[in-house]
Amino acid sequence: MIPAIQRLRPRSIQARVALAIAVALVVVFVVVQVVFVSFVESRARAEVENALHLQADSIAREVERNGLENAAATARAAQRFIGDARLVVTVQGVDVHWNLPVSQLEASATATRGPVEVLLERPDPDDGLFSDWVFVGLVAAGVVGTGALIWMLAGGVGARLRRSVSALADGAEAVAQGRFDVRAPESDDELGRLSQAFNRMTARLESADVRQREFLADVAHELRTPVTAIEGFAQALEDGTARSPEDRAESAAFIRAEAARLRELVRDLQHLTWLDLDPPVRTEPVDLAGAGREAVARLEVDAQVKGVALLGPEGSLAAISDPAHVETILTNLISNAIAATEAGGTIRLTTRREHGEGGIAVSDTGRGIPPEHLPFIFDRLYRVQPGRDRPSGGSGLGLSIVRRLAALLGGRVSVESEVGAGSTFTLWLPVAPVAAARRERVESGPA
Ligand code: ADP
Repeated sequence: MIPAIQRLRPRSIQARVALAIAVALVVVFVVVQVVFVSFVESRARAEVENALHLQADSIAREVERNGLENAAATARAAQRFIGDARLVVTVQGVDVHWNLPVSQLEASATATRGPVEVLLERPDPDDGLFSDWVFVGLVAAGVVGTGALIWMLAGGVGARLRRSVSALADGAEAVAQGRFDVRAPESDDELGRLSQAFNRMTARLESADVRQREFLADVAHELRTPVTAIEGFAQALEDGTARSPEDRAESAAFIRAEAARLRELVRDLQHLTWLDLDPPVRTEPVDLAGAGREAVARLEVDAQVKGVALLGPEGSLAAISDPAHVETILTNLISNAIAATEAGGTIRLTTRREHGEGGIAVSDTGRGIPPEHLPFIFDRLYRVQPGRDRPSGGSGLGLSIVRRLAALLGGRVSVESEVGAGSTFTLWLPVAPVAAARRERVESGPA
C-alpha cells in the first residue's frame, strides 16, 4: 500500500470498524439513491409532462376553436388557470401569447392542433414540505446521528475485541515472564477459540512446571541422603571417631556404597533427561525371546547370590524394536524382580503374541505390590517402600525409564501384581511383519 495511505489508516480497532461500516453505508446509500431517485424522478416527470400535455392540448383546442383573432385572448384566459406555468401559444408560427419566463423549468410539453402550437413549461415547485435550510439541517442531523450510531456499534465490537486481545496479550506477557497460572476469558467466537487454546497451553505449561519443580525437589532430596551419609562417615574417619581398623573399613565401605547409589541416581537422571529429548530409535526385527535369554544370562549371578531361580523364555518371538533399549528394559524389570523376591523364589520370563502385539513378561513370586501403589510405580522417584531393595539401593527411576523407553519404541508396559504372591511386568511391542512372523513360527515348531 502507498505509505501516505498506510499512515492515514486508523490504528484502533474501533476506528477501523467504524470506518469500514461508514464506507459500506456510504456505498449502499449512493447506490440506493441513484437507483431509487432516478426511477422515481423519471416516473414523476413522465406524469407531469403527461398532465402538461393534456392542458396544452385543451388550450390548443380552445385557441383553434375561437379563431385567430381571439387566440391571444383565449391564451390569456387559460393563463389565469394554470398559474405559475410558462405558456407560449403559436398560431401559424407566430407567437400570439407568451408570459414572463419562469426560472427552473422542470417539465414541459407541447401540443399542436392545426395551425396552433402550445408550449407549457412548469417550474420546480420550491415551496415543498421543507425549505432548503430545513432540508440541509435534517441531512446534517442524519449524518451526525448515523455517524454516532456507527461509532457506538463499532465501539461495542471494538471494545469486545480489545478486551479479548488485551487479555491474551497480558497472558502471553505473563507466560513470557514465567507465570503459567494466567487464563484468558473464554467466549464462543473466533477469539474465544484462541483463548481456549491459550488456556489449554498455559494449563499444560503450569502442570509441567509444577511437575518439574516437584521432580527437582525430589532429586534434591534424593541427593541429600547419600551426601549426608558420606559426610558423616568421612567426618568419622577424619576426627578419629572410627578408630579401629574394622570401624574405618566399615566407614569406607559405607562411603563407597553411598557413592555407588549417587552414581546410579545420576546415571538414571541423565538417561531420563536424554529420553525426554525423544532420541531416535532403531527399528529392526528383534527376537524378544532371544533378548530375554541374554538378559537372564547377564543377571544370573545376581539371582544366584539372592538364592532365586531365574528362568529364560523358550522359542522366539519377532518384534520390531531397538535391541539396546529392549536390553535396558529387561535388565530393569529382572533386577526389580530379583530385589523383590526372597530366596527360594522364582523369576520366569515368557513370551506371547496378543492382539497384534508381541509381549515378553517377567513374572516373580516376590512380595507383590499393594494395589494403592500400582498407579504410581511408573512415576519418577516413586518407591513402594523407601528402604533399599537392591544391593546398591534403587534410584526410584528404573520403571520411569522403562515406561519412557517402551513408549519411544511404540510399545507399552503392563503390570499385574498380588501382595504376597508376586508380580508380572510385561513389555508389549509392535510385532514383526508377516514374513518375519512366519519364519518365527517355523523356527519354534508347531504350538
Ligand atoms: P527402583 O529403582 O527404586 O527400583 P523403580 O522405578 O524401578 O525404582 O520401581 C518403583 C517401585 O516399584 C519401587 O519401590 C520398587 O520396589 C517397586 N517394584 C518394582 N518392581 C517390583 C516387583 N517386581 N515387585 C515388587 N515391587 C516392585
